[in-house]
Amino acid sequence: MRLQDKKILITGGASGIGLASVERCLEEGASVVMSDLATSKGEALAKELDAKHSGRCLFIPADVSSTTEVDALLNKMQQELGRVDGVFNNAGIGGLAPSTEVTDEDFDKILQINLTGVFRVARAALKIMEKQDSGSIVNCASILGVFGQSQTAAYTAAKGGVVNMTRTLALEYASKGIRVNAIGPGYIDTPLLEALDDELKQFLIGMHPLGRLGRSEEVANAFLFLVSDEASFVTGAHLMVDGGFTAG
Ligand code: NAD
Repeated sequence: MRLQDKKILITGGASGIGLASVERCLEEGASVVMSDLATSKGEALAKELDAKHSGRCLFIPADVSSTTEVDALLNKMQQELGRVDGVFNNAGIGGLAPSTEVTDEDFDKILQINLTGVFRVARAALKIMEKQDSGSIVNCASILGVFGQSQTAAYTAAKGGVVNMTRTLALEYASKGIRVNAIGPGYIDTPLLEALDDELKQFLIGMHPLGRLGRSEEVANAFLFLVSDEASFVTGAHLMVDGGFTAG
């Protein structure tokens, strides 16, 4: 078991990449806090997984755009499980619109969830991890953290911010035994892509040298590596899981 006895938090855990990561961590022996904005869906999924994995899955709802809810989430996790070994800062939303049509409110909403939300969860986790002198945080960035794409100004700004903020947090907390890394998924077949039409999907498939979209469990496997002790000398990295998208 690669994560035996580890206590791991996964935000946005009720769907797509987050849900696959919850499942992989449970399979590898961790106790997992699944968190999400989608409370009834998350509760039902976590209940099922908890029964399947001998009481190791707990759902705690939180909106990552609220500091009060995020701080309460980390405090509750510490109370219930005693420690926080790993975090997947995965909650996120998409946003596709011509930049001239994006309002301040639209732009801020994406930044609040996809960038400040990542910082909020990391800050609350770091306060606990620095007392433990250990921990591993993995932030979900994107190929769009290093590449531009038309009509995604706020999303690319947020993901680019996540990539560089990850490096800063890695430097700042390395002396405390805490590692901070990012994952850069290519286009992954999750509900997030439902907004894209078939023509755009086909075009995007063609951008991946491996010739297909990624699967959630392929990103989950990269998370599993980075959060585990197998990655004990890896910090400040942005691991691409993108079928070769950014290799060209
Ligand atoms: P998804 O829509 O399947 O899952 C996202 C989850 O986040 C949902 O369960 C949703 O309820 C939750 N969420 C949304 N806003 C939230 C908030 N304010 N607080 C708490 N939870 C919230 O999407 P996914 O594709 O699994 O995306 C997961 C992460 O991967 C995101 O950060 C996304 O930007 C990133 N990503 C996805 C792709 C892709 O192609 N699917 C590519 C690169 C990066």
